[in-house]
Amino acid sequence: LDDIPHTGVTVYADSTSMIPGIAISTLSAEKLSISIKKGVTQLYLKTNCKMLGLRPAPNVIGEIRGSVFPDEIILVGGHLDSWDIGQGAHDDGAGCMQSIEVLRLLISIGYQPQRTIRCVLFSNEENGLVGGKSYATISNEKKEFHLAAIEADAGGFTPRGFSFEADTSVLKSYYKQVSRWLPILESYGLYFEIGGSGADISPLKAQKGLLIGLRPDGQRYFDFHHTAGDTIENVHKRELELGAAAMASLVFLIDKYGLK
Ligand SMILES: [Zn+2]
Repeated sequence: LDDIPHTGVTVYADSTSMIPGIAISTLSAEKLSISIKKGVTQLYLKTNCKMLGLRPAPNVIGEIRGSVFPDEIILVGGHLDSWDIGQGAHDDGAGCMQSIEVLRLLISIGYQPQRTIRCVLFSNEENGLVGGKSYATISNEKKEFHLAAIEADAGGFTPRGFSFEADTSVLKSYYKQVSRWLPILESYGLYFEIGGSGADISPLKAQKGLLIGLRPDGQRYFDFHHTAGDTIENVHKRELELGAAAMASLVFLIDKYGLK
């Protein structure tokens, strides 16, 4: 319960009954509801929003080419777009910066990856996943194989662990392999679980690689998510860095030992 509106996507069951979706803070909604019920208030609402059509919005991609298995891609990524009432610092500036940071960390220790480590900053996640879907379509056309993909899109908070998913034909063997590394990451307070991964990487599931979601502490995420409060001063530098370090560690292990 707070005084700031939380925006979000509006989904219509059918296009013949589309009515405007308007965000109001939960506290204001309670007050308004009581006031209307009492007959004290009448509400007249006029909106002037409209769809202006589609515009080009590129995904931004950078990679370190693999020295031994360049055709096996390990992706790290987040999404560039955000709800424009805030800065999108947690959702998902944090994930973008952590993904860039994974590559920077590997370069800074002089590590030459065996596999291609690719950072993808997806466009237009919030308005229908266009960047993620397009990326997978082009990747499939190029007959690429993503051995693993890690998405960071749950806020720049202290990392708690990773969630894994994959096509059912391969999930068990992948999970068995990564579970061998759990004792290493557990000592940094990280857990592993089978579950979802991330919206932008989900269309890559058909390539039968391992899809992974970074799972930070979620207790305060929805204080900021899709609000005017999602700004850079609400991201804690140390917590953000720990998430990037956790991702880099898992990328390193997958690259060095593979998933077989
Ligand atoms: Zn997001």
